[in-house]
Amino acid sequence: MSHHKCFYCEQSTKQTRHEVDHYIDVAEDPTRAFTWTNLYLSCWECNHQKQPNRAIPVTDCLDPCAPDAQPSRHLMFETELIRAREGSAQGLATIKKYRLDRKDLDHKRMKQLHLFNEALIRIKDALIADGRKDMNENEMAVLRSFCQPDFPFSLMFQAYLERHRP
Ligand SMILES: [Zn+2]
Repeated sequence: MSHHKCFYCEQSTKQTRHEVDHYIDVAEDPTRAFTWTNLYLSCWECNHQKQPNRAIPVTDCLDPCAPDAQPSRHLMFETELIRAREGSAQGLATIKKYRLDRKDLDHKRMKQLHLFNEALIRIKDALIADGRKDMNENEMAVLRSFCQPDFPFSLMFQAYLERHRP
């Protein structure tokens, strides 16, 4: 379901320590300890550094598995830095609960942005060399691949391409 990414922070879980998180804490509701829909793939950091329910209840946050979840309406990015959209209490609570603004994530998002920038530069060089103004299908597909659900931090790239749509 999560394409080998942490449900909360979107980092790849392929090479990082990860575990199963109880979305509703067991302390909160022991009857949901083994309920499939309460088990979310999480990186170690999100699971262990998240704020307990008594501090920030999940009901105040975005549920990454909710069918109508629209994270881009609540979260935005300034380069690698995550921010709540203006007026989004849910966005703010989600960032605080899972500490999505922590340094290790900033660093990983920065590395992905670096890959994206390298792809942009290669495309720009090709445009100049060919005397073209517009990207071809292949080049657009390369940029869109960063937004695919299986790509780490795809929400950040969706927001970026949305902002820079010609
Ligand atoms: Zn995480």
